[in-house]
Amino acid sequence: MECLCCKHNVPMEGSRVCPICNHAFRGNGWDGIDAHWKAKHEKRSVPYEQFWKSLCAGHGASMKRK
Ligand SMILES: [Zn+2]
Ligand SMILES: [Zn+2]
Repeated sequence: MECLCCKHNVPMEGSRVCPICNHAFRGNGWDGIDAHWKAKHEKRSVPYEQFWKSLCAGHGASMKRK
């Protein structure tokens, strides 16, 4: 599956932005995405797990908290 964030041109630097609704996440990387996704998108569009699996290395990297 194609990376959802690449598909929607989400920047790989700075704040992460929800690829579906353009909500900008405050703080580091994807903080808050799980609650956001489950509340807003899980039922209507893409399951959270599938979203994570779709992420390319560049977009998923911030998750690892280097
Ligand atoms: Zn990507
Ligand atoms: Zn969203």
